[in-house]
Amino acid sequence: MVAGILFIVSAPSGAGKTSLVKALLARDPGLSLSVSCTTRTMRLGEQEGIHYHFLDQPRFRQAVDAGDFLEHAEVFGNLYGTRETDVRTCLEAGRDLILEIDWQGARQVRERFPAAVSIFVLPPSIAELERRLRGRGTDSDEVIARRMTQARDEMAHYAEYDYLVVNDRFDMALDALAAITTAERLRLERQRPHLAKLF
Ligand code: 5GP
Repeated sequence: MVAGILFIVSAPSGAGKTSLVKALLARDPGLSLSVSCTTRTMRLGEQEGIHYHFLDQPRFRQAVDAGDFLEHAEVFGNLYGTRETDVRTCLEAGRDLILEIDWQGARQVRERFPAAVSIFVLPPSIAELERRLRGRGTDSDEVIARRMTQARDEMAHYAEYDYLVVNDRFDMALDALAAITTAERLRLERQRPHLAKLF
């Protein structure tokens, strides 16, 4: 069995990362999405085990101490982490896996899985990012300003990634993501095990 490919996708909030990944998963049955653990409270419409594994702080810390996480980080005051066994089980079964994590987690994963393929999703401009964040709902100017600062902090790390996708037009950004997953699967070294039958 050939091991699956590990994809990392990061973006500032408002860039459209979650919608893009959801659409990519819908059109590519060979891809799975890793379900992270978090200490943040569940949002309306979210389900345990589907969107996240929701843990309280002591249980999260316990999992950290037990070495359960491939990576973990504090993002916007909450803890997030990816369980190592989930990742290994998926990849060893030959399935390609997406981690939707922040830049801090991406750094840790690259150290442990140097073959991981990382993708950063950018908005077309700062003005458009602000427009999208404002369009989300009824957040105060103060909340928007804080989100913008956080978004700039995340965006400062774009150069650490293998690929950049600018989400200007959604369909084009989705095609770009699909092109990356396809190209990575077509790499010669990934196809070599299948070629034994041919040569
Ligand atoms: P949200 O709480 O809005 O779902 O996610 C907030 C941020 O946490 C996003 O930037 C997301 O990429 C990041 N995040 C979600 N899961 C993980 C994880 O397992 N590890 C890390 N490092 N970041 C995560």
